[in-house]
Formats: sequence, C-alpha cells, structure tokens
Amino acid sequence: MSNLPRMGQRIGVFGGAFDPPHQGHVALAKTAIDQLQLDVLRVIPTGQAWHKSRSLTPAVHRLAMARMAFADFPLVVVDPRETQRAGASYTVDTLQELHTEFAGAQLFLILGQDQAQALPTWHRWEEIPRLAIICVATRAGFAGDSVHLDDLPGPLPEFFPLEMPSVPVSATDIRRSVANHQNVTPLVFEPVARYIEQHHLYQTL
Ligand code: ATP
Repeated sequence: MSNLPRMGQRIGVFGGAFDPPHQGHVALAKTAIDQLQLDVLRVIPTGQAWHKSRSLTPAVHRLAMARMAFADFPLVVVDPRETQRAGASYTVDTLQELHTEFAGAQLFLILGQDQAQALPTWHRWEEIPRLAIICVATRAGFAGDSVHLDDLPGPLPEFFPLEMPSVPVSATDIRRSVANHQNVTPLVFEPVARYIEQHHLYQTL
C-alpha cells in the first residue's frame, strides 16, 4: 500500500456484528492499521444485519464490548452509527455517509475473506468500489490461505490483499463455548469475558 498515493486522511472502515468481539477482529484491525498506514480505523457494529439469520445481542452490549476489546488501540474509534439506524443497515449507506462527512479522505473497507466472498450479494455492492478501496484479509477455514475472488460473477471489484496471521476463532465458537460453560478468555480479552459473564450473555444458543 506504500505505493498508493496518500490522498488526505486514510480512514479504515471495519464492520461486523462483533457479537462478541474477539482476537480475530483485533488481529485484523491491527493488520489493517499497520499495512494500510491508517490514520484512524472506524469499528462499526452492525444494526439489524440483513444477512445474519439469528437475532443479534442488543447493540448496547456489542458496543460496550467493542470499546473494551479495542481499548488499547488509540487509532480505533468505535462508531455506533449503524446501530442507531432504523431498519436494515447497509455498508454502502455507511460508506456514503463517511464519504460526505470526511470529504477528501480515502476510505478503506476492511473485510475478512468470508465477507469478501459474499460481497456480490450485498445491497448496491457495485457502488462500493467507487467509495472505498476494498481490502481483504485471509481468514482461517475459508477457502485455503489465500484470497480467491475468482468465482465471483461479473466484473470483479479491485481489492487489496492484507497479509495476516491465521487466527482460527469465530464469534459463533465463542457463543457456543459460553453456552457450554467453557472458558473463553484466550479467545476474547479478559474484560470482554467478564462483561459476558456479568450480563449473562450467550447462555443459550
Ligand atoms: P459469526 O461467527 O457470528 O459469524 P464472526 O466471528 O465472523 O461472527 P463478525 O463480527 O461477523 O465475526 O466479523 C466481522 C469481520 O471480521 C468480518 O469481515 C469477518 O470476516 C472478520 N473476521 C472475524 N473473525 C476473523 C478471524 N478469525 N480472522 C480474520 N477475520 C475475521
């Protein structure tokens, strides 16, 4: 990314359910900040994620846990905008808002490999490459160790690959472990584990 001309502030946009935020999210955030030389990374928990079948934990908890998980990252801002939106929340709307709000900045959309592969199913996804540079990180367990977007239909969006160490963890695993009364501290940070316990989150699947 060092050969890409720097055009104003570099803002990373990292969306997800963060239900709960875990070590994989933090590793991805760190990778993006370092490799893209970001000035700021906006972590944006989804509101009503149209593509997730289960109902999400209330946003107030997901925001609180995200603030704890990223507390040691001065360049991370946890941005509640999607949780405050009525109805379904779409990434393209968020990028459009940020584009207007931070005129002149360069936006970088940070995706794990699974999300990148689902991109062509997203609402108005064709508009996304005009608003942001799409950056895709390898995710353990998804189509090997390299980014394969070859199977996508139609013209491919250009994307920038992020090299990150494999962190084989998912929020699904963590919710399952909590429901089975297993310790999740190595997978989430201590304060997040404590928060989950105090608020009795993920007791049932
Ligand atoms: P769930 O298991 O509930 O689907 P998740 O662990 O995939 O959740 P999300 O909040 O949906 O977490 O993910 C947000 C973003 O972080 C996505 O782009 C996803 O690909 C990426 N991501 C999540 N876990 C990892 C991981 N272990 N390594 C790399 N990227 C990850």
